[in-house]
Amino acid sequence: MITRSPRKRVLRIAHLTDIHVQPEKDAARGMIRCLQAVHRLKPRPDLIFNGGDAVMDVFSQGRERARVLQQLWRSILRDYCEIPVIHCIGNHDVWGWDREHSGCSGEEPDYGKRWAMELFELEQRFYSFDRMGWHFIVLDSTFPHGNGYKARLDDEQFEWLQADLKRTPASMPVCVLSHIPILSASAYLDGNNEKTGDWVVPGAWMHIDARRLIELFWKHRNVKLCLSGHIHLYDRVDYNGVTYLCNGAVCGAWWNGDYHQTPPGFGLIDLHSDGTFESQYMLYLSGSAQPLWKG
Ligand SMILES: [Zn+2]
Repeated sequence: MITRSPRKRVLRIAHLTDIHVQPEKDAARGMIRCLQAVHRLKPRPDLIFNGGDAVMDVFSQGRERARVLQQLWRSILRDYCEIPVIHCIGNHDVWGWDREHSGCSGEEPDYGKRWAMELFELEQRFYSFDRMGWHFIVLDSTFPHGNGYKARLDDEQFEWLQADLKRTPASMPVCVLSHIPILSASAYLDGNNEKTGDWVVPGAWMHIDARRLIELFWKHRNVKLCLSGHIHLYDRVDYNGVTYLCNGAVCGAWWNGDYHQTPPGFGLIDLHSDGTFESQYMLYLSGSAQPLWKG
């Protein structure tokens, strides 16, 4: 008799991206409501992935506003979150790179990524770890470009990623977390991208180095799942055996309701021992989480 070992859930992750907390627009209450809904889930998630853009914005803001947002973020996590949080840096968490508007000189000791690393208590801006038979890689998507940014890995990070995947056993499934999507369908629809008669996706919306990342993942077929946010829209792209999930936004349209067709929500991912997974996009505004889309 042939028996197949049953697929076993080993880890449940709530992927909360683009919270954009701020004192205005009832955002703090919204973030608390989302955390409460996550904590009420049965079974309760083992981990929360903060996908970045945790605060409304410090990229273009001065020190005083950055301090207010830092305190708000920290106090809500301290008071309303018991589940361990894995943090990923988003573009809006990088302090002052828009020097024209932030007034930063660039000489401040906590300028740029340093500010985000302090906010999230990170020692590295990109890193990896193992949990319950899965390997997790957290990337830093935000690369400086004038007063703005592009979505890509710097060379140091790409070399580290190559080495990290090389030393991960081929039998171990890999999940990648980045703020900006490596590959996304919704990036095509966030704006009037087709107005020139061609589909144009800005390099700040989707990783401009996606081709070399996809080629790297092709060499390491144990890369199963890439999670992102940034676009505030939900989509799932399956390409070369890798699933790319862009998991909407906790804040929806920056705390102004739905963004296009995607309501405020978060991703809920169940990872299995055999390298498979199930994902859902969850609504939370009612106070208890309800699945909207299953992927
Ligand atoms: Zn973003």
